[in-house]
Amino acid sequence: MNRELTRVVEAARRAYVDEPLCAYIYDLAALDRHAAGLAASLPDNCELFYAVKANSDLPILQTLASLVQGFEVASGGELAWVRSHFSETPVIFGGPGKLDTELAAALELGVELLHVESLGELRRLAWLARSADRQADVLLRINLALDDVPATTLTMGGRATQFGMDPSQLPECLIWLAGHPEIRLRGFHFHLMSHQLDADTHLSLLARYFCQVRQWCEQFGLAINHINVGGGIGINYREPERQFDWPAFSTDLAALIKSENMSGWRIRFELGRYMTAACGYYVMQVLDIKQCFGRHFVVGRGGTHHFRTPYAQGHSHPFFILPQEHWPYPFPRPEVRQTQVTVVGQLCTPKDILASDALVERVRVGDLLLFPYAGAYAWHISHHDFLRHPHPQHIYLFPQEPAHAADQ
Ligand SMILES: *Cc1c(COP(=O)(O)O)cnc(C)c1O
Repeated sequence: MNRELTRVVEAARRAYVDEPLCAYIYDLAALDRHAAGLAASLPDNCELFYAVKANSDLPILQTLASLVQGFEVASGGELAWVRSHFSETPVIFGGPGKLDTELAAALELGVELLHVESLGELRRLAWLARSADRQADVLLRINLALDDVPATTLTMGGRATQFGMDPSQLPECLIWLAGHPEIRLRGFHFHLMSHQLDADTHLSLLARYFCQVRQWCEQFGLAINHINVGGGIGINYREPERQFDWPAFSTDLAALIKSENMSGWRIRFELGRYMTAACGYYVMQVLDIKQCFGRHFVVGRGGTHHFRTPYAQGHSHPFFILPQEHWPYPFPRPEVRQTQVTVVGQLCTPKDILASDALVERVRVGDLLLFPYAGAYAWHISHHDFLRHPHPQHIYLFPQEPAHAADQ
């Protein structure tokens, strides 16, 4: 077990009091190292933003604020949350269906760039900017046909979706923009795929963006220097030992920027999942083990109402078993050995499954199950109040916590 995990395991064991445990544990020291490493590895003309919808918990944002260039928000709620805690951090605002109140708040709260999704939104923004006597800097979010770039399991573009504009609408937008100096076009925004696991494919996606933007610049005589390449770097939940090859990606990106002559451009990333997934863990204590029609079910405290990621992504989530020795009952402790188990939660629905047919060496009632990669799109996408079970504990391991000393 590596040192990082030891610290999380100690925290899980400490968190257990006298009720079966259910908790999220976030290793902020690991997050700090990871984010600093990503930022440092990017070429000089690239900027790293964090897409806060992946996990907007305050300790997460506080850890990241000094390591990233800024935060990307996708709603008025995220904007207000971020601005109430970070008055200086640069904020960019994207997403479909922005309300007038949200656009007005963006102007009011000094959002650096708005990512505009349609001509209709552009018109409303201009109308609001004029009445507030302000100017707004924007990127146009564009959907692109992706002829030869392989798709991932979650695509926001390359086909008909609600995101961004069809490139055929660009000329009309540009003509409109020419008559509206209250809106300043700074560049283009692309976020076409999430769950990207292949560094080469991701690089070819970026190459496609670069080429397209340069072509538009020539065709329409644009004076812009900004490309937002979105997020979308994935986490390999199915084969956790085979993750996106970031070192290769950042090295090849530097080479691409050089060969494509893009070093005069500002290239911005807004990563969500890849930034925070690995720092989070969901822990559940085993309440029951049962057999039904030949399958073994391990019932844990909690479920998909806390940790919806496996259900949302349709995978069996990997987990570690942390043996717990405490057994207060005067009868034998149920256990299974060397068998396949399906891990479920406490909800009254057959969809409440976190892992299926996972081979385990031994698992007993009372042991802890630790699910890694639970720091992004986990608690924040879950339907917390279904069945009115209590919420899990949320434990944040700050860099100077006692656990740090304990595992030296
Ligand atoms: C969700 C989102 C992101 C972050 O995506 P990840 O796959 O979590 O990196 C970035 N940009 C936009 C526009 C998004 O909607």
